[in-house]
Amino acid sequence: MASDAHCHPYDLKKQYPGAETERREAGVSCAASSWNREQFEFHETLAAQAAADGAAPVALCFAVHPQLPRFDEPVCRESLALLHVLAAESRLRAVGETGFDLFDREYRDTEKIQEALFAEHLALAIASGLPLVLHVRKAMHKVFAYSRELKKVPAVVFHSYSGTLREGRDLVKRGVNAYFSFGTPICLNHRQAMEACSALPADRLLTETDCPYQPLRGKPFSRWSDIRTILETAAELRNQREGARITPGELEALTDRNFRTVFGTA
Ligand SMILES: [Zn+2]
Repeated sequence: MASDAHCHPYDLKKQYPGAETERREAGVSCAASSWNREQFEFHETLAAQAAADGAAPVALCFAVHPQLPRFDEPVCRESLALLHVLAAESRLRAVGETGFDLFDREYRDTEKIQEALFAEHLALAIASGLPLVLHVRKAMHKVFAYSRELKKVPAVVFHSYSGTLREGRDLVKRGVNAYFSFGTPICLNHRQAMEACSALPADRLLTETDCPYQPLRGKPFSRWSDIRTILETAAELRNQREGARITPGELEALTDRNFRTVFGTA
């Protein structure tokens, strides 16, 4: 079974109403990210229907997205309050996506708020024994600053991993139970992501679409069928290393096992 460690089904549905049918037919398990009640409740319904029908599972994730403080502070507070309720009611498989976005000036202006939010998400993940899903842009140095605390989290998923191969290895060496998720950027000539995907340990790899937000070239949005292309590209990249030999099917089975380990799905 293929798996998608980071996606936004609520947002995808707006662009592509047949998305859930495609997901089920392709048998893609997914971890659905949300930051408000409407998104979360939509994902929760999808998860319940999938469980009832024996379809590929939907793992529910919730957090205040690190880009949110730039747009709307009151919404951040509401979102944070809901996060605590959902965690207390055991309705989550992971806390995420949280982290740091320092990609451009407008986001950097909210760095202090992002910092406070991240610390709160991290503490909650530790207290409730939930994995963390991280969104990190131009901010690996921030992650390293928290590595001692991150060691206490059951699993740390780097969605669309933006660090180097060396940084990934270093995090693991420091004792962080890190998983590195790769999506369409490896198909779009992003050299750093391609190198990391080619050589990080297979038992720490995940695949993702971030749908609808990371389209393949010439496509309007990303979707679940892209997972096939991502698996093929990832296998190709790994096979360029000396002595490596893995098929897309073997990589699919491996990443699916990693997905289940992280998100606790059957
Ligand atoms: Zn996302």
